[in-house]
Amino acid sequence: MKAILIICDGMADRPVKELSWKTPLEAAYKPSLNQIAKTGICGIMDLIAPGIPPGSDSATLALLGYDALKVYSGRGAFEAVGSGVQVLPGDVAFRCNFATANEKLVVLDRRAGRIENEDADKLAQSLQKIKLKTPSVKFLFKNTIQHRAVLVIRGPKLSTAVSDSDPQKTGEKVLEIKPLNTSFEAKYTAKILNELAHQFHTVLKDHSVNKQRVKRKLLPANIILCRGAGTIPKIKPLSELYGVKAACIAATSLIRGVCEASGMKLINVKGATGTPQTDFLALAKATNQVLRTFDFVLLHVKATDVASHDRNIKQKVEMIEKVDNMVGRILNNIDLNSVYLAITADHTTSLATGNHEGDPVPIAITGPYVRRDDVERFDERCCAKGGLNRIRGMDLMPTLMNLLGKTKKFGA
Ligand SMILES: [Zn+2]
Repeated sequence: MKAILIICDGMADRPVKELSWKTPLEAAYKPSLNQIAKTGICGIMDLIAPGIPPGSDSATLALLGYDALKVYSGRGAFEAVGSGVQVLPGDVAFRCNFATANEKLVVLDRRAGRIENEDADKLAQSLQKIKLKTPSVKFLFKNTIQHRAVLVIRGPKLSTAVSDSDPQKTGEKVLEIKPLNTSFEAKYTAKILNELAHQFHTVLKDHSVNKQRVKRKLLPANIILCRGAGTIPKIKPLSELYGVKAACIAATSLIRGVCEASGMKLINVKGATGTPQTDFLALAKATNQVLRTFDFVLLHVKATDVASHDRNIKQKVEMIEKVDNMVGRILNNIDLNSVYLAITADHTTSLATGNHEGDPVPIAITGPYVRRDDVERFDERCCAKGGLNRIRGMDLMPTLMNLLGKTKKFGA
């Protein structure tokens, strides 16, 4: 027995006025998603707890069966790991932006005019040559896509209890990094980071790449903004917990980081971009192919969330219909006598607010031995009447693994 878990980022929603008070899932044409509901068991799920809007990272941890409230350790480390940067226990990692600031360190553009990879590559190489005044601390700075980058600091006595330097808004001054508690470690880490931020600025402000950018009438990337200090969580890999070979298909570095932290094999798919332009057909083909050699495959689709954050109603419905088409192709190429397929969202993202919200998400599981219920459509309203009732995010993995015969008995 094997299992596929499809997570459609932010797919769940609230009723939308422009859709005659239907949710996008209710409004979309989605025969394949409905087929899963019709042949399977359905329910609704609180990823973390009722009313708590989950982040994609904490939600994915929960969907993999971990108690996110206990093990979640910040976003930075997942971003770093997902971008191919090694993060060891004790390291502190950040998400960073190349940004533009004026001489008074007021942020003019948080993305340095969405600097292209080529310029960011050269700047990052120069930054990596900086020597810290504290020789026992090393750092690793890597640009990922456009203005995005990750910073990892490594050494004894570091802490994640430090604030961000990113003010998150233009027109505001770059923030000094502050310790968030009174420990030596937090104060020491903040001091190192402020020193590093100063050195980054010194190198960037006179860098030839930036001089060239100004000549080309582009914004100079003269400052690095850091946020989301995190470390890797102490979690047991899925292989140890359930004895399964697990793989993850995801384009988003944050999700890749969570999956790698849980010991899953990361699969790269050409054309998978994490945007609405992603190649849905390639995702379907890859899922079917990867399932041949793995017991558990997680497929993450980001496009539904992108449309939600952009508050683009038409695009969200369209993305759900593309997901449906992708799911149809996956269903056509698996044997439902030996494969379980579950579909859900990692949180509700409201078209009305453009934010993650705490409403539960629909979940449906089909496969040979699920206890079918009477639900016939995959949406928020119908799934609420299903046989799974209302479960927590961290209940899903044991439920799936039990169907696969991979869970241990509790008690005698
Ligand atoms: Zn998400």
